Amino acid sequence: MLKVEIDPGSGFCGGVIRAITKAEDYLATHSRLYSLGAIVHNEAELSRLRERGLITVEGLADVPSGETVLIRAHGEPPSTYEQASGRSLEVIDCSCPVVLQLQKSIREAYARLHSEGVHGQVIIFGRVGHAEVLGLLGQVDGDALVVENSAMLMDAMDSLDFSQPMEIFSQTTKSPSEYAQICAMLRERGARLTVHDTICAQVARRHQSLAAFAGEHDVIIFVSGASSSNGKVLSDLCRSFNPRTYVIGGIEEINPAWFNDQDRVGICGATSTPKWLLESVASYLTRWP
Ligand code: SF4
Repeated sequence: MLKVEIDPGSGFCGGVIRAITKAEDYLATHSRLYSLGAIVHNEAELSRLRERGLITVEGLADVPSGETVLIRAHGEPPSTYEQASGRSLEVIDCSCPVVLQLQKSIREAYARLHSEGVHGQVIIFGRVGHAEVLGLLGQVDGDALVVENSAMLMDAMDSLDFSQPMEIFSQTTKSPSEYAQICAMLRERGARLTVHDTICAQVARRHQSLAAFAGEHDVIIFVSGASSSNGKVLSDLCRSFNPRTYVIGGIEEINPAWFNDQDRVGICGATSTPKWLLESVASYLTRWP
């Protein structure tokens, strides 16, 4: 028999809970609501919301005029709001307040770095093409350098002007230790760098608690959608503390060969993994084999 424990810190973050609650409230009195991109990177939760009338679209062009569209927690660039207004769409804005603050900080930094006689550089540590990063780039008309990892920064080093000031921001769900490493690399090259502490506090706390949780168990089952950026970062963190870490999207992906009798199994997930899914995985494993 396995000893199964769910990480008490796992489950949706505040931003995702807020967006889903707003969608459910709206769908309680309306038959459909369009979501610009997946409201959460988790297929099981998306399927539950789809049954209630949530329609996920890739672009505003897919939303019929006069309909209502939800902007998810990742936030959007200003152009999205302009297009929605031009198409007479109602907007339910679920941009996370933490992301909105980050967008504002980037706009302010850009203004500072392009004031008279200054030709500085905004740098974003984030995943290229990620919705949150696209929303951040939109605040500065795309005029920022995005680096995803240290290798990408190394490639970009020669294009940077180290005689000018730089300000760096992190996507909210990136790894605090990788962010520190990126900042250290820039400083070692002599950058006059202002570092903005923009990793979400909920994510940073989860990094600390998950490291301990992963080390305390024989096996870690990390439940996450394949497209979750945060899921990739947190599952890599678990694996660095426990090599017997396995990432699954749902119960059907569990492989019995991963377990030995009496193993202590820790179950955890990304900020986009619903608690009910963690509980169903725990209930399945409690009955194993
Ligand atoms: S991870 Fe943090 S910043 Fe991102 S949506 Fe959740 S609460 Fe907001």
